[in-house]
Amino acid sequence: MTKSSFQIGELLIVELEHFQQLLDALWNRDFAVYGPTVKDMAIVHDEVKAVYDFPIGWTDEQEAAHYQLKKTGNGALFNYVVGPHTWKKYLFPPKVSLWEAKKEGALFEILPDKSSPPKMAFIGIRACDLSAIMIQDNIFTKGDYKDSIYLRNRKNNFILAVNCTKSGGGCFCISMGTGPKATKGFDLALTEIIDDKRHYFLFEVGSELGGEILSQVTTQAAGETEKQTVEKAINQAKNQMGRALDTRGIKELLYDNSEHPRWDDVASRCLTCGNCTMVCPTCFCSNIEDYTDLTGKLANRQRRWDSCFTLEHSYIHGGSVRSSVKARYRQWLTHKFASWIDQFGTSGCVGCGRCITWCPSGIDVTEEIKEIRRSVKVSTAV
Ligand code: SF4
Ligand code: SF4
Repeated sequence: MTKSSFQIGELLIVELEHFQQLLDALWNRDFAVYGPTVKDMAIVHDEVKAVYDFPIGWTDEQEAAHYQLKKTGNGALFNYVVGPHTWKKYLFPPKVSLWEAKKEGALFEILPDKSSPPKMAFIGIRACDLSAIMIQDNIFTKGDYKDSIYLRNRKNNFILAVNCTKSGGGCFCISMGTGPKATKGFDLALTEIIDDKRHYFLFEVGSELGGEILSQVTTQAAGETEKQTVEKAINQAKNQMGRALDTRGIKELLYDNSEHPRWDDVASRCLTCGNCTMVCPTCFCSNIEDYTDLTGKLANRQRRWDSCFTLEHSYIHGGSVRSSVKARYRQWLTHKFASWIDQFGTSGCVGCGRCITWCPSGIDVTEEIKEIRRSVKVSTAV
């Protein structure tokens, strides 16, 4: 089927052998295309030029403090959930230069930034991660203080979302209302289906740009059978969630229990390594560091990701406000699930499960909250 563009909401089928056309269409429009690929036995985000760059036939097994890739042999491109990378590495990079200055005589002169805004296409964003991008959009692009670096990186994006047909051991997007199906914020969304006879993708057009890009790919109209198959596959992911979280009254639950003994318990297990904040798609703490070269003639100010688990992060004039592990863990969890709601109007958690998988101690946010809720119920009943 060839058309100059497709309408928003149209559903089209692309067979596996034509998937490369989509990547070519994006590269031909000067997008740098990033997607999932296998590196160091994990599925990470990197540049993708061809279909064979994808994690073909790989799946992941995830649990608290456990991540393992396994070969399935079924040739699927997207048969896994989220890995250690998040898309924030492109929009809110871990390390970014704020300015550079060169010494001229006795004075420093700020060097002009000659780089042009990037044009980036993101392939394979899951529904939970799409919600995380919207949460960071809210933080960095709305209100009185806008982040110029984020705005610049977010300006020319193309988003191809992937609906999950499998969920992982740490996933609880259903509880957080963010997945497993992408419903907004994408240019195109796809669901991958492999049956006895075919390997195809059902695409949904989400924007004008998405319709234009898809018009450069060989497509067919989607039939009722294919739509039903996709619906069934997404329902399968809904029924497989590895975790669940009761979010009723969660803000009040955490505010009312700031001195609960469970915070001491979790502090005895937490290593304050900050892994949970590094892998979280919504965490946005940063620090500013200044550098000079050995001659002292070049100065550079950088912004780097920081974590509320470090002692220095809460250092104010002579001491750290949150000096204990208990205070730091409580701050992180309470911010995510309670004060974030007061601050930004949504939860700070999208239920991706990364903090559960990548915590070396196997600390599980859903378990910590469940335990506080359970003991409160017990004490109320008594
Ligand atoms: S909760 Fe886990 S990942 Fe987070 S700081 Fe503590 S030990 Fe590290
Ligand atoms: S708190 Fe954990 S589960 Fe929630 S978004 Fe962050 S990494 Fe994902």
